[in-house]
Amino acid sequence: MDETDYIIVGAGSAGCVLADRLTASGKHRVTVLEAGGTDRRFYVHLPLGYGKLFYDPAVNWLYKTEPDPGLNGARDHWPRGKVLGGSSSINAMVYIRGHQQDYEDWGRDNPGWGWEDCLRAYKAMEDNEAGGDAWRGKGGPLFISANRSGLHPLVAKYLAACEQAGLPQNPDFNGLRQEGAGVYQMTIKSARRNSAARAFLRPAMKRANLRVVTGAMVTRVVIEGGRAVGVEYRRGGETRVMRAKAEVILAGGAINSPQLLQLSGIGPGGLLQSLGIPVVRENANVGDHLSDHQGINYTWAMKVPTYNDELRPWWGKLRAGMQYFLGGGGPLAKSINHAGGFFRTRPDMDRPNMQLYFQAFSTLIPREGERPLLTPDPWSGLSIGLSNCRPTSRGHIRLRTARAEDHPVITANAFSTNNDVEEMLAAVKFLRKIAAQPGLAPLVKEELRPGPQIATDEELINDFRSRSGTVYHPSCTCRMGPDSGSSVVDAGLRVHGVGGLRVIDASAFPNIIAGNTNAPAMLMGWKGAEQVLADAR
Ligand SMILES: Cc1cc2nc3c(=O)[nH]c(=O)nc-3n(C[C@H](O)[C@H](O)[C@H](O)COP(=O)(O)OP(=O)(O)OC[C@H]3O[C@@H](n4cnc5c(N)ncnc54)[C@H](O)[C@@H]3O)c2cc1C
Repeated sequence: MDETDYIIVGAGSAGCVLADRLTASGKHRVTVLEAGGTDRRFYVHLPLGYGKLFYDPAVNWLYKTEPDPGLNGARDHWPRGKVLGGSSSINAMVYIRGHQQDYEDWGRDNPGWGWEDCLRAYKAMEDNEAGGDAWRGKGGPLFISANRSGLHPLVAKYLAACEQAGLPQNPDFNGLRQEGAGVYQMTIKSARRNSAARAFLRPAMKRANLRVVTGAMVTRVVIEGGRAVGVEYRRGGETRVMRAKAEVILAGGAINSPQLLQLSGIGPGGLLQSLGIPVVRENANVGDHLSDHQGINYTWAMKVPTYNDELRPWWGKLRAGMQYFLGGGGPLAKSINHAGGFFRTRPDMDRPNMQLYFQAFSTLIPREGERPLLTPDPWSGLSIGLSNCRPTSRGHIRLRTARAEDHPVITANAFSTNNDVEEMLAAVKFLRKIAAQPGLAPLVKEELRPGPQIATDEELINDFRSRSGTVYHPSCTCRMGPDSGSSVVDAGLRVHGVGGLRVIDASAFPNIIAGNTNAPAMLMGWKGAEQVLADAR
């Protein structure tokens, strides 16, 4: 029988960091089992290839939520990476750690997860192009682009308009302050996506003690006498078992990790019994507390050129291709989101509760069918999107069947609390305020989506219920906490009540953070590995 010391299930953002850290000393044999395939694909490496990966079954789990009453009954599309690098190989590459206070919230019930501890780990992990300082790391494995050159000229107009609307400029959202408008740092290196696979896994794969198996779909954790001793997985039509002498670590992400626990008999007892799965450890929190950021784009037709004008005509595509291949520049070398910001919808709040995304680009974003990200609107279009930072709506992940291949039921419950509706309403009004400032207004021809006819509170709410969607940050479904009454893993990311088993990925966040979730998912991997190695000693 196949045996290793540590099995890591999933080579995503957290799994790649774990694979690197656990193999660095050379003392442990580590095997990563990844359901997806290689990341050596053109559109994975090309930053604006993002749009091509959005519906590509070769790299994407292509999840759908249940019809959501909060979205006027629509089923939302939830892309997740199924490839080396996981979602970091298909994401939009914005690098945000979150607000310091979010980590203080994490640390309150979870020793070792407060801001000082997390800042130390972030700094050790990072290699920030802007240099190291009290807030930024330099010399670590993860290169982060400061994104200072090649920005679209409208970025400066947007920043001026934000300032005029009362949101001052912020040169570093990962610095002392999160609030303000500014340019996003990016996980891009030398004009190529810097996924967790590229930054952590690929270098580690040179070590003899790391084995990475692609196309390996883990179907359950093998548990004997209350302890995880291995996993069962399917590869090439065969079912196999791999034993772990030390530990099994689930890093399958916020949808698949709770699904795997439930398939392994760890979860809500009634659900497991109804599907004929023997209950190993009852815990109603497995799959619960699903938290996600919900976003909406407003778009305007402009009097000045945007990327639509560059990327729509054939000669524009040719030019963009030449800019990229000859000099590593142009729109293809960047994320779709050049800039953004964080703001509060009420002045009495202690931290920002909304995030902005600026795109010198516009495209219709349908709920169903291909998202034509590389098919811009046939006019000079501009989009400013926003999403909530700390929503109070909660959903859940539940097995649909006892087969690992069947997608679980994803109940998102978007906008199911008054808080989330009210803050989004205030936020979309602020978006219009930004567009009405002298920095931008003279350049705007007209608001297209939703359009000026959508004016009352009721109309605005109905608009974001029908046009908004996930911004792809599901988390907290195996959340960390002190006991199994409220959580799934402890502060060491060990599953409550089961030996030899951890969950280390975005599902273990105690609460969703304010900002994009790739950085904190990699932080989970970094700090999780420290815990694993400390326990091994
Ligand atoms: C379209 C999109 C855009 C995004 N944009 C941004 C952004 O700009 N900035 C940002 O910070 N964040 C962004 N995110 C979010 C961020 O990428 C994720 O939060 C983060 O990558 C999650 O990391 P993870 O380790 O929890 O899971 P993942 O990275 O999703 O990794 C899970 C891995 O486990 C594998 N796996 C799952 N189940 C099994 C199984 N049973 N057997 C074997 N392998 C399995 C999967 O195939 C996958 O490779 C975006 C996400 C998406 C999808």
